[in-house]
Amino acid sequence: MSQLDHIGIAVRSIARARGLYEALGLKLLREETIEHEQVRTAMIPAGDARIELLEPTQEDSPVGRFLAKHGEGLHHIALHVDNIAAAMETLKKSGARLISDNIQTGASGHLYFFVHPSSAGGVLLEICQDPIADV
Ligand code: ZN
Repeated sequence: MSQLDHIGIAVRSIARARGLYEALGLKLLREETIEHEQVRTAMIPAGDARIELLEPTQEDSPVGRFLAKHGEGLHHIALHVDNIAAAMETLKKSGARLISDNIQTGASGHLYFFVHPSSAGGVLLEICQDPIADV
């Protein structure tokens, strides 16, 4: 079963953006830099889902270009699945347009890929799965 995992919001500064959520009683869980995406992220748990603040480390990066084009705002929505490979297969068969055909690994070890907004109601959609435990 898929469930809402997080909502990604592009911001110019996590340091500036986090205060609003903290004023509402939410706590920043962790900050990390994902080198290959040139982005710094902060996860803020909110109930069963989380808010992910995204701050580019370079202007010429996916989130940096997003900010230049749209300004701060909703960047993506992420759904959590149990089997990401099966989800990718199903979406490909249904004709959904994916941003890339590879499943990628995030800084905390979780797996993810993105569905293009043209196949997801105009919103960039991330499909993610928990890290695979080392045996
Ligand atoms: Zn995300």
